[in-house]
Amino acid sequence: MNQRIVLNSRPHGLPNADNFRFEELEIPAINDGQVLLKTLYVSVDPYLRGRMNDSKSYIPPFQVDKPLESGIIAEVVESKNNDFARGSFVLGSLAWQEYQVSSGKGLTIVNASIAPLTVFLGAMGMTGLTAYFGLTEIGKPKPGETLVVSGAAGAVGTMAGQIGKILGCHVVGIAGSNEKVALIKNKFGYDEGINYKITLDMEAAIAKACPNGVDIYFDNVGGQISDAVIANINKYARIPLCGAISLYNATEPPLGPRIQPALIKNSVLMQGFIISNYAARFPEALAKLSQWFTEGKIQYTETVVEGFHNIPSAFIDLFKGKNEGKMIVKI
Ligand code: NDP
Repeated sequence: MNQRIVLNSRPHGLPNADNFRFEELEIPAINDGQVLLKTLYVSVDPYLRGRMNDSKSYIPPFQVDKPLESGIIAEVVESKNNDFARGSFVLGSLAWQEYQVSSGKGLTIVNASIAPLTVFLGAMGMTGLTAYFGLTEIGKPKPGETLVVSGAAGAVGTMAGQIGKILGCHVVGIAGSNEKVALIKNKFGYDEGINYKITLDMEAAIAKACPNGVDIYFDNVGGQISDAVIANINKYARIPLCGAISLYNATEPPLGPRIQPALIKNSVLMQGFIISNYAARFPEALAKLSQWFTEGKIQYTETVVEGFHNIPSAFIDLFKGKNEGKMIVKI
């Protein structure tokens, strides 16, 4: 049999198991030009929460009673398409379904001899590219500057911090446990780490970790953590707005300090971005990232959860900080 996961209902606040429904269906047959894909690894990502709402965004919302989808590594188990040989591995935005048919459109062949397959969902995939372009194109780090990264122990954060170190910055990470702070310092080379869950005065803690102020703030979380970083922002600082996970489950628009005076006073650039803006330049970034991997300058970590039935809970766990590095479900 074949299973899939559909959106059962739209979440209000933090998603729960009732928002997802498992369905059984036949393994589909393929026609000329098509391939049959067997799902191997599923990427669960915070941005999927936004797609569960019925609201306009840069990507269409999921539809109730229709399958959810995300970045997936799959194996071609049958092929009637000359571009995809049986036994090859592909990456694509695919349905949360064990077996599915594809025309091949939007699929990229993954070379399993370069790196473990899961790396193409993380460090050498969407989240690694996000860190690379957000930091280099908007953050524009210069040697000796201070970079603060929130969500520092996550998929994007671990990469942003390491790239900041390679480019010569003093790098400070903010994360949600002492274990994560130890991880970013010991494995990913962060100079300082702050556990926001036990720090009463974040503004003071950031000031202490950043004696020269903050030149670049790579923002993965938004909300109160970002308010505290912006209170320490330097003149001509840059803020790549990558994500705002602390706000994704908010049911009311949250109120915070008005940040405009701090940004004006300090001539700060704050710019949101979506990784697909840079799609034409992915090959260039992947070449750079693979060079750094080969040189041993970049490490990665993954939290791998096993089992198709665990996809929804792995996704929900992102909002509880259960992952270190990239959260992936192995089927
Ligand atoms: P992560 O691997 O960082 O996982 C999410 C992490 O967010 C959790 O482990 C948790 O870590 C932290 N978190 C959860 N809830 C909160 C909260 N309320 N306040 C502070 N931190 C919280 O995910 P990704 O690396 O995939 O994504 C990181 C961010 O980047 C997200 O906001 C995501 O939407 C964004 N993103 C943006 C892209 C773009 O194109 N702009 C592309 C990819 C990602 P902790 O224990 O430290 O709290």
